[in-house]
Amino acid sequence: MTETVTNWAGNITYTAKELHRPHSVNALLNLVAGSRRVRVLGSGHSFNEIAEPGEDGVLLSLDALPAEIDVDTTARTVRVGGGVRYAELAREVHRHGLALPNMASLPHISVAGSVATGTHGSGVGNGPLASSVRAVEIVVADGSTGRFTRGVENRFGAVVTSLGALGVVTALTLDLEPAFEVEQHVFTEMPLEGLDQAGFETIMSAAYSVSLFTDWRAPGFRQVWLKRRTDQPLPDFPWAAPAAEKMHPVPGMPAVNCTEQFGVPGPWHERLPHFRAEFTPSSGAELQSEYLMPRESAVAMLHALDGIRETVAPVLQTCEVRTVAADDQWLSPSYGRDTVAVHFTWVEDTQAVLPVVRRVEEALAPFDPRPHWGKVFTAPAAELRARYPRMHDFHTAARDLDPRGKFTNTFVREVLGD
Ligand SMILES: Cc1cc2nc3c(=O)[nH]c(=O)nc-3n(C[C@H](O)[C@H](O)[C@H](O)COP(=O)(O)OP(=O)(O)OC[C@H]3O[C@@H](n4cnc5c(N)ncnc54)[C@H](O)[C@@H]3O)c2cc1C
Repeated sequence: MTETVTNWAGNITYTAKELHRPHSVNALLNLVAGSRRVRVLGSGHSFNEIAEPGEDGVLLSLDALPAEIDVDTTARTVRVGGGVRYAELAREVHRHGLALPNMASLPHISVAGSVATGTHGSGVGNGPLASSVRAVEIVVADGSTGRFTRGVENRFGAVVTSLGALGVVTALTLDLEPAFEVEQHVFTEMPLEGLDQAGFETIMSAAYSVSLFTDWRAPGFRQVWLKRRTDQPLPDFPWAAPAAEKMHPVPGMPAVNCTEQFGVPGPWHERLPHFRAEFTPSSGAELQSEYLMPRESAVAMLHALDGIRETVAPVLQTCEVRTVAADDQWLSPSYGRDTVAVHFTWVEDTQAVLPVVRRVEEALAPFDPRPHWGKVFTAPAAELRARYPRMHDFHTAARDLDPRGKFTNTFVREVLGD
């Protein structure tokens, strides 16, 4: 059977002529053991060839495996299957009176695929989604299974944010906390002029999760989104005016696609993402790029972008600035440093966008940027290697777990080098 398999954005068509969907773990083990090259496709929300198996490779999905979500209310953990998405996970966790500490802008994405690329939300005290992972169950190259637990196995630092290059993640165990409520407050028009690093820190610390949005058509920010936990103080926010109507971060898109605003309290999983599970997230016709840099360089970095805004604005739908706390996954873009993340939702036109991506990368180069692994970037391996102090350790773990490179692909070789 031949099928055309694309990513969510439609800018990548995988060369594999079939998406294999094993129905049991045994079938999965046999498929892995009998294949020369394997890549897993999560929910396909990455914008580059990270999941591409190559012409001689097998592309597999775990969405036909039983969707395991086992909450342990005593240990406050959940064991979640490798094909499960955040939307279904969050609903089940909340039903048990528990919560994940943070979510990305959308709940549509798979847990295993998200943590594999270092996916994050915002918050000065919130690490990337991978920081909740306590254990990983993985099928390695010979078809055998392994379990890696945080604090027990040194190679744990490699196996969560792995770019899918170490094996098939069949389950993850995540730490949970008691459920909490969140209010979302949106403000408009915050100037960049006069903003210093101390002011940036204050603004980004004003609530549990803070996002700034701009279209770079003028200096400054068109929208500021504060997500306040109701068990934390109500922020005084004098830097911008409260929005008069409900907003979507992409100009012209309907606010009904977004999670509730105007300070209406609601469960954590219906406020931490910007987009509602039942609606198309973002604009739906787009490419994305994102770069993560040391947080202390945030304001200098924003001025560097302001300097090229006339190049950026014509192909931009929206740009989002967030913060991510340091974590300890060796290939995490926030490894070892508190981070400012600057994200670009581009128009859906690769030819027009790529030269601007290069220009953005030049402007950001002085700030030691690490690109989001799941988005569009052009930085070569030689540059990226220098930005990851544990890159060598990752390669050593990869050689141990996958000596013949069954789970590698062209993308991984190009961005990580050999
Ligand atoms: C509209 C939109 C909004 C977004 N918002 C955010 C955001 O707020 N924050 C952010 O950081 N990112 C964001 N992203 C990017 C997105 O979170 C990442 O691309 C993420 O990897 C998507 O997860 P996925 O399951 O779709 O991964 P895929 O694209 O399917 O796969 C990503 C990688 O994970 C590997 N993989 C997937 N499942 C497994 C498994 N079971 N075992 C081993 N490897 C596996 C794949 O092989 C591949 O290498 C957004 C993307 C979109 C489209």
